[in-house]
Amino acid sequence: MTPEPTGHPRGIYTLFFTEMWERMSYYGMRALLVLFMVDQVQKGGMGLTDETATAIYGLYTAVVYMAALPGGWIGDRLLGAKSAVWYGGIVIALGHLVLGIHRVETFYVGLLIVALGSGLLKSNMSALVGQLYPEGGARRDAGFTLFYMGINLGGFMGPMICSGLGESIGWRWGFMAAAAGMFLGLVQFKLTRHKIAEYGNRMEHPGQNVRREWLVFSAAMLLTVVFTVLCVAGVIHLDVMWLSKWTASVIVAIASLFFLWAFGFAGLNTEEKKRLGVIVVLFLASALFWAGFEQVGSSFSIFAERFTQRQFLGFEIPAGWFQSLNPLMVIGLAPLIAVIWVKLAKRNLAPSLTVKVSWSLLMLAIGFAVAAWAAQRALSTGPVWPTWLMSVVLIHTLGELFLSPVGLSAVTKLSPPRLTGQMMGIWFLGSALGNILAGLLAGEVTGDATAQMPARFMDVVATAGISGLVLLLLAKPITKLMPGIK
Ligand code: GLU
Repeated sequence: MTPEPTGHPRGIYTLFFTEMWERMSYYGMRALLVLFMVDQVQKGGMGLTDETATAIYGLYTAVVYMAALPGGWIGDRLLGAKSAVWYGGIVIALGHLVLGIHRVETFYVGLLIVALGSGLLKSNMSALVGQLYPEGGARRDAGFTLFYMGINLGGFMGPMICSGLGESIGWRWGFMAAAAGMFLGLVQFKLTRHKIAEYGNRMEHPGQNVRREWLVFSAAMLLTVVFTVLCVAGVIHLDVMWLSKWTASVIVAIASLFFLWAFGFAGLNTEEKKRLGVIVVLFLASALFWAGFEQVGSSFSIFAERFTQRQFLGFEIPAGWFQSLNPLMVIGLAPLIAVIWVKLAKRNLAPSLTVKVSWSLLMLAIGFAVAAWAAQRALSTGPVWPTWLMSVVLIHTLGELFLSPVGLSAVTKLSPPRLTGQMMGIWFLGSALGNILAGLLAGEVTGDATAQMPARFMDVVATAGISGLVLLLLAKPITKLMPGIK
């Protein structure tokens, strides 16, 4: 396909805007989620404790990313990435509408529907972006940076709109706004779908029994529905804290089985296996990074609400608005960082993928050191200036930019084409693990345990700092495993 004057295929704009609206709905709804759950019942909230709310939040965000693995499989084998994105979007919009019903009985069902839809959309969307740049290389990286801006434009708008409406007018309106955002994304996708006509169509898989795979899929869906109905009816009682702890182990088990299968039974040659080894390292680093970073929607959200001065010229800044800071910073910094990589590459000084990822962990450690300091001050002297939280978010945003767009692009390059959807699913499974660990960590530093915040944050400093240094030392041998990929 002839490149457009900007150097990017036209289809990137279709994907950019669809992802933007999807992320608007995702980040918008999750910005109000913890606040809604801990709000008093008389005020329209759910009256849950901090610990339960942050555990549900962690579980929800983990399931969103866990669902990316089956979602990638469905895109690779049954629907093709493009249709998977379309149906995923429809499911997400429906889920937000169910949340908008605003009843306890339908709340968990709504969350599950949004999570399943997001899983279907997210991995296939990223696989599609990769397909638009078949030659790989720096242009694919630039494409992913552009796409990442779309993600963050949505991530910026979402909390402003949904949390703004939810906190001021009523929670229901926040959920409805998220549904409206996804609906706009679907309309946009439908109207501009012709620009990606030749991409993301279903691929033939030698020896595939399509009928049998549809049956497996239908059976899994049926089981999910029956299980959900039994939970809602109170026949099965699930303890959230118990579930959270188990989910972390389940994710590790799924990832291990997937990697064992891919190494042993997916018919990969030696080169492909070496690249898969790099994906394993990326998976672990990303899980660790998101476990810390994702405090942004849970313990940092509570920090914003209770430990931060939010009065400004007689106006109280909604706590959820602090969650728009990170995407705003990404929009400002992503192009800058991309230019720096290109300039360094011209002088042959560009850091390798592994070095960038180690730096993301080191940034995480530095950010948490600042957060621990801020928490210590807030505990001894009362609410602190918003500049504390802003500095932490800035440092973490730099870390994110060293990991997330770089990792997305790298996984599409490292993966054999017929498995890209599933490999994206594995990449997001790393985020799932990070999110569930983030929820558990948040539970330890909120509620009655806020006094533990500085100490627990320092634990993150130690874990992320040591892992970052180890990865930095291993950078050379890891880079040798993937010749031609920077
Ligand atoms: N901000 C990124 C996104 O929403 C984070 C993805 C991740 O957790 O891997 O796409």
